[in-house]
Amino acid sequence: MASPVGHVAFGIAAAAVAARAAGATDSTALWLGAAVASGIPDVDVAFPLLGLSKRLHRNATHSLLFAALVIIAGSSAIRTLDVTVPPGALVAWIVALLSHLLLDVLTTGPTLGRLGWGIPLFWPFSRRRFHAPHPLLVGDRTESHGLPDTLREMREDLVRIVPPCAAVVLLLRLLA
Ligand SMILES: [Zn+2]
Repeated sequence: MASPVGHVAFGIAAAAVAARAAGATDSTALWLGAAVASGIPDVDVAFPLLGLSKRLHRNATHSLLFAALVIIAGSSAIRTLDVTVPPGALVAWIVALLSHLLLDVLTTGPTLGRLGWGIPLFWPFSRRRFHAPHPLLVGDRTESHGLPDTLREMREDLVRIVPPCAAVVLLLRLLA
């Protein structure tokens, strides 16, 4: 599983690619929004924190249907509240949101897959959970059991996920 550090780094790198493609103008809102959007599917970690089963994590909020609902709700809120969004930012935020699901699939290997931690992209229409045969960047991690494991994964992501993501952002800056 990717940690919050990995998700923010990957989300910002994905948003940087999308922002360039969409011709988005640079702004704090663009990058802050991308960082927030990249973490939205993990809102379900609130369930275990509230003492409910940790098996409630990585279910509905990790589906494409939930992502679509977030996009619709976010777009409606922007229209209703008449919020000024920087040009191209919405595309970058959507890509950052979807990057969460992609990174979770790419960093979930056979070990976590066998334990049922794959990503249910097509929930509620399919029970299939997606994971990678050879996880990207993080190795075939096993289940984390609380805060110490999460902190260790965050340290690992600082070394394994953040540098390539930073390289992508830097490269796009140099090409700008
Ligand atoms: Zn997740």
